[in-house]
Amino acid sequence: MSNDIREVVIIGSGPAGLTAAVYASRGDLKPLVIEGVEAGGQLMLTTEVENYPGFVDGIMGPELMERFRKQAARFGTEYLTDNVTAVDLSAHPFVVKTGGDEVQTRSLIIATGASARMLDVPGEKTLLGHGVSTCATCDGFFFKERELIVVGGGDSAMEEAIFLTKFASKVTVVHRRSELRASKIMQDRAIANEKIDFVWNSVVAEVFGNGKVEGVRLKNVESGDDSELPIGGVFVAIGHTPNTSLFEGQLDLTEGYIVLPGETTETSVPGVFAAGDVVDFRYRQAITAAGMGCMAAIDAERHLEAAAH
Ligand code: NAP
Repeated sequence: MSNDIREVVIIGSGPAGLTAAVYASRGDLKPLVIEGVEAGGQLMLTTEVENYPGFVDGIMGPELMERFRKQAARFGTEYLTDNVTAVDLSAHPFVVKTGGDEVQTRSLIIATGASARMLDVPGEKTLLGHGVSTCATCDGFFFKERELIVVGGGDSAMEEAIFLTKFASKVTVVHRRSELRASKIMQDRAIANEKIDFVWNSVVAEVFGNGKVEGVRLKNVESGDDSELPIGGVFVAIGHTPNTSLFEGQLDLTEGYIVLPGETTETSVPGVFAAGDVVDFRYRQAITAAGMGCMAAIDAERHLEAAAH
């Protein structure tokens, strides 16, 4: 890796980071994408993506990300397959350290995403994308006339449960307490929905199925009783964790998400931009992340141009 000062470094290689790379490389900024050891973001964990415009017949998540990556490479994007271990945003140029390298850059685009919290129970990981999902908007359509469960008691869980009733024959919300965390209005909507049932004081102890989800084993946390529930899908909606630990104390954050104080993608530090799920807890879609990645590259380009004059 050369010791030259970079114009743009992009941390993250999901739809936000790679779209920023397509734009920045076409703008001749020769971006470096530090793509992480597990490159590609959350779409690497999905199977078919049917709502990304332009792919009439759908596309597999990993293949979509491979296409993003190739498209950015075509215009001169460089990739470093390593994890960022530290950043110094008080230095000018900014310093980005990885396991084996240190890079200096005049602008930085953060697209480190968010990770859906998982239950961490047997069967969950192996059946992810085969009946276990963390996104009803993405996958609900595949569950027509099936019985599903949604795990969680917050606004996301209620929203997902209500959305899933469009497709599923029945949705059971499994919550670990006897009281929901969700806002009153979301609770009322879910409770009023005839297709939604609740199982209280219960956690999922296991997801089982041969190649696809066939059921879950539930444990009542009060009685300790185990029961099996045959179902066709498990939607895990227990919150997300934005990947921002590197930036704590250096950028303004709210509930862990990066704050954008103005109307652009610029963060609280001029020259540092952020895009995708690391900022956005509301929409969390590949297409919205890609849109923000485009915005961040344009913002970075304008920042560099203004700084040069
Ligand atoms: P959240 O509010 O943190 O709720 C997470 C839920 O998952 C809680 O009910 C929690 O149980 C449960 N949970 C956490 N870990 C668990 C585990 N290991 N096993 C079983 N259950 C577990 O997360 P969220 O629902 O994603 O919402 C995040 C933020 O976005 C909130 O501020 C929310 O209001 C907002 N949001 C708003 C809307 C909307 O207004 N339309 C929609 C979505 C999200 P406990 O209750 O026992 O802690």
